[in-house]
Amino acid sequence: MLSPWRSELSFIFLALLFGAFFGKLFNQPALVLWLCLAAYLARHLFYAHRLIIWLRGGRANELPRGDGMWEEIYYLIFRLRRRNKRRKKQLIRMLERFRTATAALPDATVVLGPRDQIDWFNEAAGRLLGLRRCDIGQKIGNLLRYPKFTHYLRHADYQTTVGIPSPAAENVQLEIRIVPYGEDLRLLVAQDVTQLRFMERVRTDFVANVSHELRTPLTVLKGYLETLSDAADAVPEAYEKVFQRMAEQTARMQSLVDGLLSLTRLESATRQLTQNRVNVPALLTLVCEEAQLLSDKHPTLDLQIESDADLLGSEQELRSAFSNLVVNAMKYSPPSAWVTVRWSDEGQRARLDVEDTGPGIAPEHLPRLTERFYRVDVEGSKSGSGLGLAIVKHVLVRHGAELKIASVPGKGSCFSCCFPAKRVVRTERPIAHEIHA
Ligand code: ADP
Repeated sequence: MLSPWRSELSFIFLALLFGAFFGKLFNQPALVLWLCLAAYLARHLFYAHRLIIWLRGGRANELPRGDGMWEEIYYLIFRLRRRNKRRKKQLIRMLERFRTATAALPDATVVLGPRDQIDWFNEAAGRLLGLRRCDIGQKIGNLLRYPKFTHYLRHADYQTTVGIPSPAAENVQLEIRIVPYGEDLRLLVAQDVTQLRFMERVRTDFVANVSHELRTPLTVLKGYLETLSDAADAVPEAYEKVFQRMAEQTARMQSLVDGLLSLTRLESATRQLTQNRVNVPALLTLVCEEAQLLSDKHPTLDLQIESDADLLGSEQELRSAFSNLVVNAMKYSPPSAWVTVRWSDEGQRARLDVEDTGPGIAPEHLPRLTERFYRVDVEGSKSGSGLGLAIVKHVLVRHGAELKIASVPGKGSCFSCCFPAKRVVRTERPIAHEIHA
């Protein structure tokens, strides 16, 4: 078969030959040539017209007849249409599958457009968020009118989630997450967390109640043991050690109960963080003085106040966090070690480092240190509840701060708390706090 261009050129050549022959025959070359050109143009117009009709509404799977280059043009367009049709079918099938899958999801899913308008939503969104077909095109902020949600939508910090009550189902708690995708599109996913929240509350209440109930018997037990140790003469020598151990274990249990109660208090989400101005240099001085009173033989403590920054937050919580870090450094380091407590600036931020030259912690323990009850069990390690660092972490999270732990076994550890600029308040104050002991 000739190539389309060759057949078209031979067609033109034949037309010219035909024109030249009849032009010569009738002695009218210009007129015959003009007639030939007009016929050639009419042929193109005819095929172009056929193409338009076919493209407009003709059957896509029927190839129109043509010759010369039109045959090739028809064939190429036919192939393109067939391919597009196949691709469209595939896309429709995929979309159908996606819609059936998202419709079956138990979580409410809403596709939001660039102006926060609802483009699509699944069945669960109707049930949990109360959306109806007629809401398509409406702004989501006009339908879910909760200040927390409006703030979340406006500030676009999609790393976090926001909790709201369901506007459609009674007593249902939702956790909403927005996931950006594509260009200016976002997926809003609302999960029913009622059961989860209930279980969390049950757990927190249980721990709080048990800890609270244990307090009274522990205090009574401690009182009796103190009375016994005061009346040393009345206690047979054989029992002295027993009572001593009992007193130690009671103290340990008391610290566990206190730690659990502190954690429960920190964890209860309803508790708003107090926003007092906390004089950190004074607080650290106090914490260091107290830490030194805990035992007679303790490492050398060096408090370095290099910043006049104060913090916005809860003095009670910060005191408990700082105290845990300093007491740990003093408790786990031998008397020959050094403990340095440094309060310094880090640009607009502020930082507390509690560094010691104690035994250090093996790297495999570092990621788990802030878990509740996690303790590094090494021979001769001091007793503890394993709750101290969990409390520190919670306090820091509530203050928007970060805990960094660096440690080299045999060399020492450094626990750093980095506070964000929005929590730092500065005033001109002479930097004069230094204690060595
Ligand atoms: P604990 O009540 O046992 O001290 P923490 O949560 O405060 O509980 O600490 C968890 C574990 O981390 C401790 O058991 C201890 O082994 C280790 N640890 C904490 N601080 C230090 C430190 N400064 N040096 C060495 N080990 C430490």
